[in-house]
Amino acid sequence: MAMVPSGFLWKRTLLQRGMIAAAIFLAGSISFVPRIAAQGPLALAAARNASNAPARPKLVVLLVVDQMRGDYVDKFLGQWTGGLKRLVEEGAWFRDAAYPYAATETCVGHATISTGAFPATHGMVANAWWDRKDQKMVTCTADPDPNVKNIGYAGATPQGADTAWRMAVPSFAEELKFQTSGATRIVTFSLKARAAITMAGHKADAATWFDGGAWVTSSPYGTLPFIEEQAKSHPAKADFGKTWSLSLPESAYWYGEKALGAVPPGGWDLTFPHALRGKSGVGEPDPDFYNHWASSPYADTALTELAEKTVDALNLGKAAGTDFLAVSYSTVDYVGHAFGPRSREIQDILVRLDKDLGTLFTHLDAKVGRGNYVVALTADHGVVPVPEDMQRTGADAGLLHLPELQKRIEKALEAFKYPKPAVASVSGSDIYFAPSVYDKLQHDPAAMQAVLDAALEQPGVAAVYRAEELRDRPATQSLMHRAFAYSYFPGRSGDLFILPKPYWLLDGTPLGTPRAYGTGHGVPYNYDQHVPVLLMGFGIQPPSPPCAESPSPPATATSLPTP
Ligand SMILES: [Zn+2]
Repeated sequence: MAMVPSGFLWKRTLLQRGMIAAAIFLAGSISFVPRIAAQGPLALAAARNASNAPARPKLVVLLVVDQMRGDYVDKFLGQWTGGLKRLVEEGAWFRDAAYPYAATETCVGHATISTGAFPATHGMVANAWWDRKDQKMVTCTADPDPNVKNIGYAGATPQGADTAWRMAVPSFAEELKFQTSGATRIVTFSLKARAAITMAGHKADAATWFDGGAWVTSSPYGTLPFIEEQAKSHPAKADFGKTWSLSLPESAYWYGEKALGAVPPGGWDLTFPHALRGKSGVGEPDPDFYNHWASSPYADTALTELAEKTVDALNLGKAAGTDFLAVSYSTVDYVGHAFGPRSREIQDILVRLDKDLGTLFTHLDAKVGRGNYVVALTADHGVVPVPEDMQRTGADAGLLHLPELQKRIEKALEAFKYPKPAVASVSGSDIYFAPSVYDKLQHDPAAMQAVLDAALEQPGVAAVYRAEELRDRPATQSLMHRAFAYSYFPGRSGDLFILPKPYWLLDGTPLGTPRAYGTGHGVPYNYDQHVPVLLMGFGIQPPSPPCAESPSPPATATSLPTP
């Protein structure tokens, strides 16, 4: 499947097995940009350079952009001048990386990046799933251990307890720490617990996320004094009253002023500028203000500042081990859910992120040293266009209404005398039956067929898979069947699985309620599976030979024009 580019000269340590393997692992098929896959003299020249370099990077920087589709790099590269551009120009760009599994969600994607395993192995099958034992929804990071508690910085008192205990295999960072006998420092940041925690693993020096207006962590992870200091001196509420305006001339935007079918956060309309004032529009920061903040460039900048402070405070890259710093930028996901991928907001938030990443890399160059650190940037999943916007193109697109699907299944089982309700939960593509119902259905072909027929009659349903078809990861030529099998983890996954038609959005909004978002993700189609993978820095061969005496690439090596 994946081709390992010959440009990767640093092959012997676990970093390649971990980070790069994870990057490669998530690709069903990776086509590598030929300009960095040159053989022969070019590779030899780089090998000579590599022999002067330290045996391992001083720092590994993992950057995840939540909901960044693979095609965004091709589309918007021309408007970038900062870190995203630098990654493309100085790094290795995997243009065709894609998750091969069905459950393209945040917790799943981050756990896959972090472990190099698929959800069938790491067990993080969704952001949240139906817990059959407790008969309730649980989030992927919810920890029932009464000794575990979330801890707030700057005096915050968060609810809950979140850890990686449901992640069935260690993270790359954990393994790195283990192999350096604890010398590796692990620090992760995100707005989301399910991203910060999965990137860190079960233990870390710090794993920090944002909840209810404050930075928080939980008891298995340490608190660090400089995070406390930053949380106090640069609180999110200091951005109250600021405005998100277009950063490029209006003519630079691909899309109209108002994204069709978009559902902005409460208190915002569909046109720039977006003011960070909360719903009330006056006074104090309220929950709507924090939604605005999280959906604005200010949140990305805050995460970047935390990353830079970490480098300074811990002297990352200066200790005995290879340090690990990870940031998951959540804002693109919030903006994408609200405004869709074909919006000025998405275009602008990436321009802003490009600038933040440029600042971060400049900081790393100064403090860790260019060439001493390695960066991997990728995404946890993509996103489907807003259905109303897609319909305008004439495509078959729509909303697959899950509450209606649930009603159809209940109705289909009425004739077969099953307990009511027969369906315990429909969560994304997973249908969970009430206790013992699915066991019974498996021995009741007529009732099973009635359920499958009812599901297939729902507008937008392309196929339905049964758990027993996925359980043993059967050999199959069907990409869709295989995608659901890669996502299947016994006990946590559903009993039946819905594959929507392409461009049909799984919508769980209760009947008669307006939907609270523009669009989403979570299915095995290219728009959700295809993500960028960009590697840069230590051990990653840049596009052109870095030293003057390097011979020209052989005639057989093809070069692509700089995009
Ligand atoms: Zn999302």
